[in-house]
Amino acid sequence: MQDCLFCKIINREIPSKIVFEDDEVLAFHDIDPKAPTHILIIPKRHLATLNDLDQEDAALVGRLQVTAAKLAKELGFAENGYRVVMNCNEDGGQTVWHIHMHLLAGRALTWPPG
Ligand code: AMP
Ligand code: ZN
Repeated sequence: MQDCLFCKIINREIPSKIVFEDDEVLAFHDIDPKAPTHILIIPKRHLATLNDLDQEDAALVGRLQVTAAKLAKELGFAENGYRVVMNCNEDGGQTVWHIHMHLLAGRALTWPPG
């Protein structure tokens, strides 16, 4: 997707602090962190919102979650805890139209979210 910010990050047209990459997934630090650790985990395939998911995307979304759990262990906050969030469309607070999982950790997060 030509005008997609996260596709540009995947293609290295925009710099980012990458923490994990495989053939289907990229994880990098959020530019405006909302917690001491704030990582975005994205599929390399462009999907604008969660509403675009089909049954055949189930494994891909699963890989995002498995990547979050793996990073939590590797980065040392799995036991203390963390949160994963995926925002969809305006009411969900989505601002970048390429699906992404937020991985937030490093402080006690409040609930419910705002
Ligand atoms: P959302 O509001 O759920 O769509 O999340 C989009 C996230 O992307 C926000 O937390 C932004 O801080 C983050 N973001 C925007 N631009 C960049 C960038 N160039 N590099 C890393 N993260 C970004
Ligand atoms: Zn994209």
